[in-house]
Amino acid sequence: MDIFSKMEEYDYEQLVFCQDKSSGLKAIIAIHDTTLGPALGGTRIYDYESEEEAVIDALRLARGMTYKNAAVGLNLGGGKAVIIGDPKKIKSEALFRAFGRFVEGLNGRYITGEDMNMTQQDAEYISCETNYIVGLETGSGNPSPMTAYGVFKGMQAAVNEVYGSDDLKGKTVAIQGLGAVGRLLADLLYETGAKLIVTSRDKTKIDKAVAELGAIAVGLDEIYGVECDVFSPCAIGAIINDKTIEQLKCKIIAGSANNQLAEPRHGDILHKKGILYVPDYIINSGGVINIIDDISGREYSKENAMKNTAKIYDACKKVFELAKKEGIPTYKAADKMAEDRIASVSKIKTIYNRK
Ligand code: NAD
Repeated sequence: MDIFSKMEEYDYEQLVFCQDKSSGLKAIIAIHDTTLGPALGGTRIYDYESEEEAVIDALRLARGMTYKNAAVGLNLGGGKAVIIGDPKKIKSEALFRAFGRFVEGLNGRYITGEDMNMTQQDAEYISCETNYIVGLETGSGNPSPMTAYGVFKGMQAAVNEVYGSDDLKGKTVAIQGLGAVGRLLADLLYETGAKLIVTSRDKTKIDKAVAELGAIAVGLDEIYGVECDVFSPCAIGAIINDKTIEQLKCKIIAGSANNQLAEPRHGDILHKKGILYVPDYIINSGGVINIIDDISGREYSKENAMKNTAKIYDACKKVFELAKKEGIPTYKAADKMAEDRIASVSKIKTIYNRK
C-alpha cells in the first residue's frame, strides 16, 4: 500500500506506528484533522487480517471522528487508534501501559478513550501513563445513557420535521438491537407513550422488553419490513443496503448504530423514497458530548452533559434545513455542515500577539 497517497486522499495529518516487543504491542494512531482542536477518538482492539487492513480502518475511523466532532459543534479534531491482535489473547497491563506512553508522547495532539473490545480496566492501565484519555469511571464513565438520550432528542427533531410536532406518543418505533443504547432508548420511548417493535440477538433482552415495555417482538430479518413511523438501528452497521432498503415501510430512520448506510448511494435512495434519514454520526454523538468535562478538566456533571446532548435536536434540524435548501440527501448535508465549519475556522486570520 502507498501510505502517503492514502493519507493525501483525505488530507490526513499524521499516522503513528507504535511497537513494543516485550508486551507485543502493535498499534496505529491516525490523526485526521486538528483544525478545531485535539484529535479525539477511541482505541479499538481487533484481530485484523493484515496490517494494511488495520491502517485503512484507523484512517477511516479517524476521518469519521473529524466529521462527528465538527458537525455537532465540538472544539475537537478527529483521530482514532487501533491495537492489532485478538482481544482474548493479547491483553495485558504492560501492553496497555506501553500504548499509553505512545499516546502521552503525542503531547495532547490525540486523546483516546474506549472503543470496540476495550474495557474500563484496559483504559485504567492506559491512564497510568497518560492523562490524554477520557471516559474513565472516575470521570464521565459509561457513555451509553447519554448516547441513548441524544438519539431520543434526534428522533424528536425528525418526528417534528415529518409530523410537525415533537410528540412521540402513539408513534411506532422499531428498534433493532436491545444492547446498552437500544434498551435505554426503548425505556425513554416507552415513558413518552411510543409503541415499540423490537428485535435483538439476545432472547432474554427481548423477553424483558416485551414484559416491561409492552413491546412487540419480531425476528431479526423481519424488523426492516414492519409498518412503523421510525426505524431505529441500534445494533450493527451497513443495515441500510440493497437487500433491506426495498423492505422499509418507515418514514424516518433514527438510531445509534455507526455507519448505517452500506454505501453512500443508499442515502441517495432513501432521499428519493422520501424517508428521512438522520445521519448516524450526528444522532449518536451523545457519547462524545458526554466527555467534554473530562477534556476540559472539570468534574463531570450529568446535568451539563444532558444540556449539551439535547442540542443534538438543533443539529439535526440544521441538517434537515440545509438538505432542503440545497436539495441534497441528509447524509450529504451533515458532511457539508462539518466541512463548512472546519473551513471557516481554518480561515480565521492570524493576528500578531506578543508572547
Ligand atoms: P451493544 O453491544 O451493547 O448492543 C448491541 C445489541 O445489538 C446487542 O444486544 C446484540 O444482541 C444486538 N444485535 C447484534 N446484531 C444484531 C442484529 N443483526 N439484529 C438485531 N440485533 C442485533 O452495543 P451498544 O453500545 O448498545 O451500541 C449499539 C450501536 O450503537 C453500535 O453500532 C455502536 O457502535 C453504536 N454506538 C454506541 C455508542 C455508545 O455510547 N454505546 C455511541 C455511539 C455509537
